[in-house]
Amino acid sequence: MTKRIALYPGTFDPMTLGHLDILKRASTLCDKLVVAVAINRNKNPLFSLDERVEMVENVVSPFRERIEVEVKPFEGLLIHYTEQVGATMIVRGLRAVSDFEYEFQMAGMNDRLNPNIETVFLMADPQYQTIASRLVKEIARLGGNVSQFVTPEVEYRLKDKFT
Ligand code: ADP
Repeated sequence: MTKRIALYPGTFDPMTLGHLDILKRASTLCDKLVVAVAINRNKNPLFSLDERVEMVENVVSPFRERIEVEVKPFEGLLIHYTEQVGATMIVRGLRAVSDFEYEFQMAGMNDRLNPNIETVFLMADPQYQTIASRLVKEIARLGGNVSQFVTPEVEYRLKDKFT
């Protein structure tokens, strides 16, 4: 039987409980999950690439009891990277309507580039629906409590950045 490989790409700046929920659910759909951490220089991330990879790496060990998991930095065209790792699906999380238009367009373009790769959308869990890395950073920067949005490790790292 061929191994089902899924790719979950994102900036993860920083990883939130919303990302973690998608990771958990994606891990039930495949035999191997590659979490692709985008270098994304133009987004000017708060956390370095190494830090973003580490934050994801530090939560994936429970999934490794069931499936293979790799956390990798990536740069360039997503569809090329997906082909390179041998994945047949790209997993994306979908929050409310705001994500829809962009994701719809991306999935459509990627399908034109390689119709053998399917984009799979997982609806954000209602309790994580409103969590966005951008807002988490803003709250942390202004001294707010982000403990209900991120893991204790990420909360600590955010405090460290802003003090
Ligand atoms: P990108 O720059 O690719 O949008 P992000 O790190 O912001 O990277 O998000 C990666 C993926 O995780 C996207 O598919 C995004 O929609 C999804 N995502 C982000 N936050 C949440 C959340 N709270 N619940 C579900 N999915 C989410």
